[in-house]
Amino acid sequence: MSEILVLVEQVDGEVKKVTLELLTLARSLGTPSAVWAGPGFGADAKAKLAEYGAEKIYVAGSADVVDYVVAPKAELLAQLVGSATPAAVLVAATAEGKEVAGRLAVKTDSGVITDAVGLGEGFVADQSIFGGGVNVHSRVTKGTPIIAVRPNSTAPAPAPAAGAEEEVSVALSDSAKASKIVERVKQEKGARPELTEAAIVVSGGRGVGSAENFSIIEGLADVLGAAVGASRAATDAGWYPHQFQVGQTGKTVSPQLYIAAGISGAIQHRAGMQTAKTIVAINKDPEAPIFELADFGVVGDLHQIVPQLADEVSKRK
Ligand SMILES: Cc1cc2nc3c(=O)[nH]c(=O)nc-3n(C[C@H](O)[C@H](O)[C@H](O)COP(=O)(O)OP(=O)(O)OC[C@H]3O[C@@H](n4cnc5c(N)ncnc54)[C@H](O)[C@@H]3O)c2cc1C
Repeated sequence: MSEILVLVEQVDGEVKKVTLELLTLARSLGTPSAVWAGPGFGADAKAKLAEYGAEKIYVAGSADVVDYVVAPKAELLAQLVGSATPAAVLVAATAEGKEVAGRLAVKTDSGVITDAVGLGEGFVADQSIFGGGVNVHSRVTKGTPIIAVRPNSTAPAPAPAAGAEEEVSVALSDSAKASKIVERVKQEKGARPELTEAAIVVSGGRGVGSAENFSIIEGLADVLGAAVGASRAATDAGWYPHQFQVGQTGKTVSPQLYIAAGISGAIQHRAGMQTAKTIVAINKDPEAPIFELADFGVVGDLHQIVPQLADEVSKRK
């Protein structure tokens, strides 16, 4: 089977879930090889990548690969595309992943697809475009397909493989070293998962009513192990920080479950959550447009329903 390169996303040597998803996806189309960029590769990472199907792991352990902004990762992948001639390259459709994908496409004279939510036979990618109003199937017709896949597009499934390690040294160009990272500041993180990676997202909108009332949304999120999101109406009102806004001008999420409470379902909000696998809407207005999209709808006051739901979930734990 043909080799498929998967760029590993990791933090402090710990492999992120999206990489396991990409390996799972790659396995359905070929033989996955993980590409590790930067220092920190250890036994745990190796075991994890092998567990999810990496036949080979290319390790470019030089600090240079991660000490400069984005460009070195594209050069590393371009070098591997040249030497390994893979059938495709998969990266996570994060802000950085998409920039790596774009640069790699230019370097290898290939086509690129971003924000794929599925990938099938012949590397035909599914995308949801125009604010989620149109589903597109597209395929790269030139060079090596480079595909940026959104987190949560596939459920990761283990399938142990060899995980054979191969060291890679990459000769970076001067232009790849144009902007050096001089400091890294750890973002204060709560116990909740990162919004764009969470398997479950509970979002609140104008119907929540106030900043204080967002504790109801957080309460449900916490019993479900979910991330919290918000509509723009809620973030603009200052009820919840802007970094949690879901939608066209916020974050795009693709969780297994999205619960929208007190959100009407404006097209700009849909643009950020429409590809969720299951959508649950809680809204007091039975005519709210969100119900057109929802798999399950509850008509009623979220201030009663959301705490009841949280209680029920915690009873089952
Ligand atoms: C260029 C542009 C970009 C935009 N980008 C984004 C974006 O990224 N994300 C985004 O979300 N929006 C975005 N918007 C704004 C978007 O158009 C909507 O205004 C916004 O999504 C509305 O938020 P909402 O659904 O919370 O509020 P509303 O539309 O006011 O809906 C509130 C809903 O809550 C329900 N409700 C009220 N009280 C209760 C209750 N007690 N219990 C249950 N339900 C209740 C109501 O029935 C209603 O359906 C953008 C707009 C523009 C023009």
